[in-house]
Amino acid sequence: MDLRVTEIFLSIQGESSHAGRPCSFVRLTGCPMRCVWCDSEYTFTGGEKISFDDILPELEGFGCNLVEVTGGEPLAQKSAFPFITELCDRGYEVLIETGGFVSTEGVDPRAAIILDVKCPASGESERNHWPNLKRLRAEKDEVKFVIADLNDWDFAVSVIREYDLVRAKEVLVSPVFGTGNLPGIAETISRSGLPVRLNLQLHKYIWGPEARGV
Ligand code: SF4
Repeated sequence: MDLRVTEIFLSIQGESSHAGRPCSFVRLTGCPMRCVWCDSEYTFTGGEKISFDDILPELEGFGCNLVEVTGGEPLAQKSAFPFITELCDRGYEVLIETGGFVSTEGVDPRAAIILDVKCPASGESERNHWPNLKRLRAEKDEVKFVIADLNDWDFAVSVIREYDLVRAKEVLVSPVFGTGNLPGIAETISRSGLPVRLNLQLHKYIWGPEARGV
């Protein structure tokens, strides 16, 4: 079996409760969404078809037990599901970073889901697959709201309340990189009384927002 892959690399996990941990990344090609602030448009086309048999030794060579499958939208490729199972069978700790419009139902339960909920400023909030929220597990799954403004924050709060998302392992609030109002967002979050985590994209502060393969 194979996958269309944009890049495979070893880096530091930049987001989520795993931020700062060494992590191997398999970034799959393609995404049917078009979030206006998307920072990985280079994954929309191109890539290279690579067999599992060629991807797995590369990961082994990194010597890192944490692997994230990301994109693009990783779950848009059907063979991503058996690939995730293969990683789990090999004993990796597996993270799946998904945009939230494909059902997570068929993902191997040993993998942890980091699920985006798209807010209005993304332009794609109509495409959220809401049943995914009901599947979030307290012991390992995280949910992430990328917010561009305080209207997005209000939307996030209403979704957090409606779906009782504080039962997930983490609720991540991630301001769009470069937003001018970080202090205002931080203050709003701190006064909210909600057990959420401000999520800054560590890798962009280390290597810059345009760097790839990091
Ligand atoms: S879901 Fe992710 S990869 Fe797809 S357009 Fe939105 S931000 Fe970009």
